[in-house]
Amino acid sequence: MIKVFESPKILYIRSDIFLHDYRVVDNKLFVLKMDECKGGKIVTTYLYQHPACANHEPGPHHPESPDRLESVLAKLGEVCFEDLVRFESPLAQLEVISLMHNPSYIDHILQAVPANGLVQLDHDTILSPGSGEAILRGVGGVCAAIDDVLNVVANNVFCAMRPPGHHAEASQAMGFCVFNNIAIGAKYAQETHGVDKVAVVDFDVHHGNGTQHMFESDPTLFYGSSHQFPAYPGTGESSETGVGNIVNVPLKPGSGSELFREAYTENILPKLRDFNPDLLLISAGFDAHIQDPLCQLNLATADFAWVTQELMLVADECCNGRLVSTLEGGYDLNALAECVGVHVTALMRS
Ligand SMILES: [Zn+2]
Repeated sequence: MIKVFESPKILYIRSDIFLHDYRVVDNKLFVLKMDECKGGKIVTTYLYQHPACANHEPGPHHPESPDRLESVLAKLGEVCFEDLVRFESPLAQLEVISLMHNPSYIDHILQAVPANGLVQLDHDTILSPGSGEAILRGVGGVCAAIDDVLNVVANNVFCAMRPPGHHAEASQAMGFCVFNNIAIGAKYAQETHGVDKVAVVDFDVHHGNGTQHMFESDPTLFYGSSHQFPAYPGTGESSETGVGNIVNVPLKPGSGSELFREAYTENILPKLRDFNPDLLLISAGFDAHIQDPLCQLNLATADFAWVTQELMLVADECCNGRLVSTLEGGYDLNALAECVGVHVTALMRS
């Protein structure tokens, strides 16, 4: 007997007359590992990326450089990541972006993309000729990843895209961010897939002011953040609680691993479990690492493996492991690559 599990992108074939299960991706046949397809439940991690994300070039000496993506993808090109199933991010539809951004702001941004040279949106958020496609691929990749976990073709997904998104407000670019990829993704999951409750957990060293503001009046959305405080952007005090759906744990410069982990075990994780999400999204910034030049939270690489594993436990308990992680900050190229490596290794643990 031959069984076929079909998704928009992948055909899974299971048969008792074959020795193995197979998947067909882009007309190529792959043998599935023994534990990759259990009773029709696909256990695998996807990676979304796109070369256009390297063409967003905010100028020399800008920390949010194309080199970041090169470092991340070089790490994920190592042999231990060969089981990642890789896709190019599609372009986002403008209607999807308008789930969280004002249409006039979207028009303003797309018209501001220069044919030559650079355009400054604020003192550190800059558009180059390649930025238009990069920002549309950023949102598109997150939404495609959400399709994949909700259609149960992937257990979880890492989106290796830039620029980051969590500082972007409904009508304002800031902090290297233009469109708020993860906040749009959360609303997209609700509007397109009928998901009830979506949580975002943000361990970037900076507070995700944009995500908080987009979520703070909606009890079906949850935002939990650990971040250095005081630091850019100045928001994220513990008193900012929205309608009971915002959990901020500000950490003083120099806090280190113990206080970071305590922020999760004592505060963010219990409240996330109480919220009981149907989908968990991660704003995965790695700029809290001790080597990062922008802040001083002094985390070790192992802390990023730990927090990923803890969040996966919650996803397993609450929402069948449905988890999408998207790259935010991280500006020391070596530390960024190592941290993404342990993060994605944890995601692939199944
Ligand atoms: Zn950051």
